[in-house]
Amino acid sequence: MYKKAVIVLVVLGLLSYLSLTYLEWSPPSIQWVNQTPYLGLRNSLNIRIIDRGRGIKRIEVIYSNGKKTPIFSANYSKEKLPTLLNIEVPFEPLKSGIRGTGGKLIITAEDGSYLWMGKGNLKRAEYRVTIDPTPPSIEVLSTDHVVLQGGTEAVVFRTSEDVKEAWIEVGDHRFKAYRNPFRDEPAYIALFSYPYNLKRGRPVFIVAKDRAGNESKKGLSILVKPKLYRSRRIKVGDGFLERKLPEIISASGLESSGDLLKDFILVNHDLRKRNEERIREIASGSSPEPLWKGAFIYLRNAKVEANFADFRSYYYKGKKVDEAYHLGYDLASVKKAPVPASNRGRVVFAGYNGIYGNTVIIDHGLGLFSLYSHLSSIDVKEGDMVEKGDTLGRTGETGLAGGDHLHFAILVEGVYVNPVEWWDPRWVKNRIQRRLQLLKGD
Ligand SMILES: [Zn+2]
Repeated sequence: MYKKAVIVLVVLGLLSYLSLTYLEWSPPSIQWVNQTPYLGLRNSLNIRIIDRGRGIKRIEVIYSNGKKTPIFSANYSKEKLPTLLNIEVPFEPLKSGIRGTGGKLIITAEDGSYLWMGKGNLKRAEYRVTIDPTPPSIEVLSTDHVVLQGGTEAVVFRTSEDVKEAWIEVGDHRFKAYRNPFRDEPAYIALFSYPYNLKRGRPVFIVAKDRAGNESKKGLSILVKPKLYRSRRIKVGDGFLERKLPEIISASGLESSGDLLKDFILVNHDLRKRNEERIREIASGSSPEPLWKGAFIYLRNAKVEANFADFRSYYYKGKKVDEAYHLGYDLASVKKAPVPASNRGRVVFAGYNGIYGNTVIIDHGLGLFSLYSHLSSIDVKEGDMVEKGDTLGRTGETGLAGGDHLHFAILVEGVYVNPVEWWDPRWVKNRIQRRLQLLKGD
């Protein structure tokens, strides 16, 4: 009697073990991670398959529009069935001989359960898709493109269909194009720069990507005018460093090494990088319509103390210790002079930013920003709309500034540009307003 009971229990235990491991009932789950209703000429389908039981034995991807076209399949070895699969499946409809635009992607996954005569649990997922094999075509509407090295230019173009995103590519830089803010049509404007530090001779491209991921790239005919920027020697002395470094180091959450020169490098080199990254980040999300009007204004009665893109070499006790580009204008007036907003826009930053000290950044729309640094006081806050000439604060010498002045800069999509052009009413009218007019169409 006792023996029988033991045998029954052992058999029951074995059966439940077998059924839990070999005869499990849970099918795999299928997820198309980057699912989209539109597929283009070249796609990569990211598919995730999870099986909570024995593991995945076989997967298959096919495209069906009446006719079935195999896209991908894989079998996994019995000894090592994966329980999690992240696969990237390339899908090129034209290459696979697929015609027509509408169809279904069918993904099936089979697990290693011994159920169904060893066929396993089967899961099938279907997705309706539209295939768009045509990249957008680009028609340039603006003419006579000229850009000064380090300066700004604008281009207006039309695409054959509404695109998901478009941009101007110059070297490694991408300048976002904005959809016509005045009329509902697939026309775009992009402000861009030929950056001050990019070797001349690099092509400028217009790139447009449609909702199916098809990309078009068109070279822009443009004259890049050379501009020589200056080199400057900057002497840094103990007095200046002793006076300035403690404020910047403590306000930026850094720790002094106890050595003046090391602390200077920490601030001028490492912290500068961090401060620039923050500015780039702030200057990356712009209003989709122009908020500015006409030319930009500058600090009244100011003397220029440093120019845009001066290449500075720093000397300490007669030895060169660091170098950096100076990416704005230094304008000195009377102490604590009121700082006017150079144009209409929205305040997107008002606060302390390391070497720049107290800083205000204004978004003027379409990727255009202005920056005001070393302020002694700030009179605006983030989110404020300001009109041209409104007082943002007072000049000062917060951050890495030797005396009371305004550091003024202009950025396009996070790239510093020469502000001189934006101060020139004729340039703004001919280069920028005329192009905007093309979008208004009247
Ligand atoms: Zn400066």
